Amino acid sequence: MAEPLVTRRGTLAVPTFLPDATRAGVRGVSSDDLRRVGIDGVVVNAFHLLRRPGARVVQAAGGIHRFMDWSGPVLSDSGGFQIWSLIRQDPNRGVIRDNEVIFREPSTGEKWNLTPERVVGVQLQLGSDIVVCLDDCTDAEAPEAEQERSVERTVKWARRCREELDRLVAERRDADPPRIFAVVQGGAIESLRRQCAAALAEIGFDGYGFGGWPLDPVGGLLADPMRWVAESLPAGAPKHALGVGRPDHVVGAFELGYTIFDCALPTRDARHGRLYAFRAGWAGRRPSPGDAFYRAVRIHDPEYRVDHAPIEDGCDCTLCTRHSAAYLHLLFKVGDRSAERLATIHNLRFYVRLFALLRG
Ligand SMILES: [Zn+2]
Repeated sequence: MAEPLVTRRGTLAVPTFLPDATRAGVRGVSSDDLRRVGIDGVVVNAFHLLRRPGARVVQAAGGIHRFMDWSGPVLSDSGGFQIWSLIRQDPNRGVIRDNEVIFREPSTGEKWNLTPERVVGVQLQLGSDIVVCLDDCTDAEAPEAEQERSVERTVKWARRCREELDRLVAERRDADPPRIFAVVQGGAIESLRRQCAAALAEIGFDGYGFGGWPLDPVGGLLADPMRWVAESLPAGAPKHALGVGRPDHVVGAFELGYTIFDCALPTRDARHGRLYAFRAGWAGRRPSPGDAFYRAVRIHDPEYRVDHAPIEDGCDCTLCTRHSAAYLHLLFKVGDRSAERLATIHNLRFYVRLFALLRG
């Protein structure tokens, strides 16, 4: 049984799902909606918040919790993955070097110099409860030399992040400091994944994330690399499956030992009219890998125009207890903004119910 994750703003029972409030808000819903649905914590993105509105703006507002009216735990992703993917799409946007990352804002020409120390400083300015180290992301398919360089940088940067956090905490005499997570790289090469996990564990962190894109080219979970990493980390340590979110992938990664999940999928799918529902007769059983425990509802499909049943019988969310599938179908068809909110509330409630089943 995995230990709950204790933060200075409350304890997260695990496994836990943290929706993406990338730019200080979960799209389409309010903090009140999140609380009512049963969400315990959220993930923000330090890099995106640094770009807009700026870490100083959030700090001046009283920190991320007051800024977004959220009193529970906040994990701030460093943005290592986003920086890498933006630069990969367009090399003119910046460069990743051994000691720093330089990112250029294409619209304004503004330049950001991001070092491991700066990335930790930004997360402390935000007031995050779980700080994530800057890592050097790679493509799982990239050649071995590139994966080796990524692991070397990732470990060096994690050590610098750890030292910077310890220095700032001592300087501020912070009696209740944030937690710090490191991210494991190494692509799909077993020796490198294990080496990176062991080196990070030796430095010592409060939790560890599985870094890089977590899926294979056909959309399946990278189960072997995830298993190597989980096996090479301390048994009781919180393990974060960054970006893993499809319900069957969550069940698979939980089986491998991962207990913290964040993903834009349920909220993004909801906004596009894709809803999740437990299959009829599933009746609150705990799913195991391979179980067909849920179905996807595409509310735009014509069959829902006259479907007067709720999206899921037995779901206790605002949508299912008050409205039919036909009503949601109409709201989407006429472009009513409340369609996105109701669908998001339902999908998040589905995740909260799924995670409660996994906790048992
Ligand atoms: Zn529902």
